Amino acid sequence: MTAESVPTPVHHLPSYLDKNNLGPWEIYLEQVNRVTPYLGKLAYWAETLKRPKRILIVDIPIHLDDGSVAHFEGYRVQHNISRGPAKGGIRYHQDVTLSEVMALSAWMTIKNAAVNLPFGGGKGGIRIDPRGYSQGELQRLTRRFTTEIGLIIGPEKDIPAPDVNTNPQIMAWMMDTYSMNVGRTATGVVTGKPVQLGGSLGRSDATGRGVFVAGAQALKKMGIALEGARVAVQGFGNVGNAAARIFHDHGAKIVAVQDVTGTIYNAGGIDPNKLLKHLSDTKSVQGFEDSETLEKDQFWELECEVMIPAALEKQITEANANKIKAKLIVEGANGPTTPAADDILHEHGVVIVPDVLANAGGVTVSYFEWVQDFSSFFWTEDEINARLDRIMAEAFNSLWDVADTHKVTLRTAAYIVACTRVLEARALRGLYP
Ligand code: NAD
Repeated sequence: MTAESVPTPVHHLPSYLDKNNLGPWEIYLEQVNRVTPYLGKLAYWAETLKRPKRILIVDIPIHLDDGSVAHFEGYRVQHNISRGPAKGGIRYHQDVTLSEVMALSAWMTIKNAAVNLPFGGGKGGIRIDPRGYSQGELQRLTRRFTTEIGLIIGPEKDIPAPDVNTNPQIMAWMMDTYSMNVGRTATGVVTGKPVQLGGSLGRSDATGRGVFVAGAQALKKMGIALEGARVAVQGFGNVGNAAARIFHDHGAKIVAVQDVTGTIYNAGGIDPNKLLKHLSDTKSVQGFEDSETLEKDQFWELECEVMIPAALEKQITEANANKIKAKLIVEGANGPTTPAADDILHEHGVVIVPDVLANAGGVTVSYFEWVQDFSSFFWTEDEINARLDRIMAEAFNSLWDVADTHKVTLRTAAYIVACTRVLEARALRGLYP
């Protein structure tokens, strides 16, 4: 039987999901459904994209500082490994669910393929609000979690990295724990490590730098000057603060910043370097000099050219998409825009550089880190930034051309390119046995 003679399999939802509350996985499924008509004969394999390859759910018991034992729920999902080992971050957040980790792992598959990195997609998370725990507790949590998911991770199998509320120190503990368990120092098991342990120069700013490169390319295509462009940033963590600093360094004006504690605004511009210092002193963007405080929802109504959602998913929805005045949205976060909001913004002529392209700078430098760890030969920061800039600009321009050819959004273009690459690999490999 040839692929052409066999009907496309019917999609059934996995039984382990709550059919009435699919969470972010529903957004991802909708995105795949939208692209299926563009996949030609490869659509035969599209069901592959709608099922994670492997899911591990673990119990993580740890001793708290007061001597009691607490249990946490942890996940590692390998969505797809057709093109290479699974790759994707680890999130510590009280709202982590299986559906969320599944969607985030699938977006990694799409992202890695859209930028043509030789990786599949994976993601992990622990359901915890880390703010309430000591460094000792977080270290015990990280080490036990790493041991539990040690069954499926490894430098050639699945390589975690930082995500929301995880950082180079947590990656160092993960690398050490995995290394202790396998009896050798395995630096390549995680990326986003400290530079002293085989981390890459340029990694900490890489996602924000990629957001900037993609955003600057988009502004150029749209005929909007970067110099003086007004930028509003939601999220001032790893991604948001780096993106804000790099836009600022290139002459753009950061007019608003929102984080979990509140929203600040200054039409004349906020200096993100000073804001970073204020944040490290006070743990909040609120109260920053020369800025006024806005209500949370006012953020989306601001007059600006560029909006950078760089916090969490489902931030731009039907409820606020109509109010957005920005001409360009560059998705630093994963999944910040719902499909319904996507449609509204498209109708209004707002260009969206989708997450799977816009925030791919992080995993691109993670890829460089992994390559450097394997060869034990380390590159200079200039080499890394130059390679990153080239990959991001080339990926942006080729997706822009695909969008133009098919008269589709950049998101659909990214999915066309990425799904084609993943499914070509699937078709060439064939089914085992
Ligand atoms: P982070 O933990 O460093 O920062 C998160 C930021 O979001 C913080 O400023 C926090 O205050 C803010 N925030 C949290 N909840 C909020 C809310 N309800 N409203 C407004 N602000 C809120 O995380 P990060 O690593 O910067 O990741 C941010 C996003 O970027 C996530 O979607 C993540 O998946 C994505 N991402 C991260 C990387 C990376 O390299 N770190 C790479 C690709 C994508």
